[in-house]
Amino acid sequence: MTENKLKNRVRLVARCLAAAVTALVAVPAAAQLDIDDWAKRAGDQIVWHQTQLSDTVYMLLPEPGLAGNLAVSAGEDGILIVDDAMMPVVPKIKAAVAKIQEGRIDFVVNTHYHFDHAGGNAGFGADSAIVAHANVRKRLLENRHAGANFSATPFPSEALPIVTFNESVTLHWNGEAIDVIFFGNPAHTDGDVAIYFRDSNVVHAGDQFPNLGGYPYIDRDVGGSALGLRDNMAQLLEIVDDETQIIPGHGPLATKADLQKYHDYVAETIDHIDRQKRAGKSLEDVQEDGLPEKYAPYGNGPLSPEPVWIGYVWASLDD
Ligand SMILES: [Zn+2]
Repeated sequence: MTENKLKNRVRLVARCLAAAVTALVAVPAAAQLDIDDWAKRAGDQIVWHQTQLSDTVYMLLPEPGLAGNLAVSAGEDGILIVDDAMMPVVPKIKAAVAKIQEGRIDFVVNTHYHFDHAGGNAGFGADSAIVAHANVRKRLLENRHAGANFSATPFPSEALPIVTFNESVTLHWNGEAIDVIFFGNPAHTDGDVAIYFRDSNVVHAGDQFPNLGGYPYIDRDVGGSALGLRDNMAQLLEIVDDETQIIPGHGPLATKADLQKYHDYVAETIDHIDRQKRAGKSLEDVQEDGLPEKYAPYGNGPLSPEPVWIGYVWASLDD
């Protein structure tokens, strides 16, 4: 090993460690997680910050970011929420929603199956109709929480979506059409949807767009694909406009410009890795060489450090 390669390898290991230590939000790459401990901390610590985005649609952002962002539609038809964090957080979600509007929560829409987004389902399923892509129900029936993290205890029946779909579905609720859109490609998981509140011009993008300034996590254990995520976000960019308020899976409220920037560095780094691969380089070579310097800031994000992202792309190119 040349001195330069050795240095690169040391740098690579150091970056992976740094990322693992600083990962405080969402699911760190390929980690075995103590889900119960995480959920308990979330239940103890999370405070929901409410932002009104239209007459009927609100964003609930958790601080600290131990769970995904929620959307709430509240109006004369009743209440619909997007995502529900984790069981210990459910009482705080119900309190936060009641501050917006009292009454039963009629619908819960899951953006995907991960524990920090659908983990509170069992706290709502007795009163609310849970709506999700068919693969969300499939993964919950496997007792899967995220990636290779399984539970020994099956989810109770109240946690399972009772309305499932394989393509997209539209709810007509609180004076507008609410499109629950599956873009057709496995991406962050195999069942990600974006929720588009048409008249409010608000989108909940789920974890296909974590607005944390880094690379996304790709759940390869369920067939997630970096290329599929890129293509899905290109489709979402066709739907939104400069006025759209985009609720990301994690992180602050975003705009089309933020989504465009994210899509572009995802797409450009995929192209770069693809070219290296076609030129005959090995995965290890590409990880050691690193991506062009202009992409360096994204390699230090909380979800997927640069070498992990390169690995996801590499594997996705082989699908
Ligand atoms: Zn996720």
